[in-house]
Amino acid sequence: MNLILMGAPGAGKGTQSEKISEKWGIPAISTGDILRAAIKAGTALGNTAKTYIDDGKLVPDEIVIGIIKEYLTSDACKNGFILDGFPRSIPQAEALAAMDVKIDAVLSIEVADEKIVERMSGRRVCTCGASYHVAFNPSKVEGVCDKCGAETYIRKDDAPETVIKRLETYHTQTEPLKAFYEAKGLLVTVEGQDEIADTTRLVFEALSQFSV
Ligand code: ADP
Ligand code: ZN
Repeated sequence: MNLILMGAPGAGKGTQSEKISEKWGIPAISTGDILRAAIKAGTALGNTAKTYIDDGKLVPDEIVIGIIKEYLTSDACKNGFILDGFPRSIPQAEALAAMDVKIDAVLSIEVADEKIVERMSGRRVCTCGASYHVAFNPSKVEGVCDKCGAETYIRKDDAPETVIKRLETYHTQTEPLKAFYEAKGLLVTVEGQDEIADTTRLVFEALSQFSV
């Protein structure tokens, strides 16, 4: 099963891709996590990416396309994968189509902008990829990741003014991908719910029509 997860920033792509990954035993590849790891490591890639990310913009297509190519051709992806946060623009989708991988489904998690802004204000994340919300999905111990015990933190790009810009970026550059994949008969949409478990149920239902 080769799956693409779409949705606005904060729609719950990361959270749901983790659930799908556990259930189906296929890796989730998050371009956002990969870029943040590069920033943390202080690599040239990270330094370039940081200026775009902090400004709520997309990192240039060539960069993320290069990253994805490397991952998708690795052994870990041979039984399937979940792309979380890629593609995010038409040129990225075209580059993916030109790679030798078949996409089975594109799942879009729909959440209204007002809700997104509310969610992002309480988001806490961990370098291991885990994501929490102070009110809706708190870690067991405040400020400590349930999964790995590291300290959770607030993403710099979750600042309210940057969230507004990221939503704009999403609507102008990423949302057109829905029509792109709809035309290929691959698009499935799910309404993001207030409770994570409710969204997960809808996600599993929506994906049950595809062979695993
Ligand atoms: P979210 O989905 O909540 O915005 P991500 O962690 O997926 O968070 O992405 C964070 C940032 O990383 C994006 O705002 C963007 O700057 C950059 N990024 C991630 N994936 C891509 C991509 N496929 N193309 C360009 N930029 C990307
Ligand atoms: Zn962690």
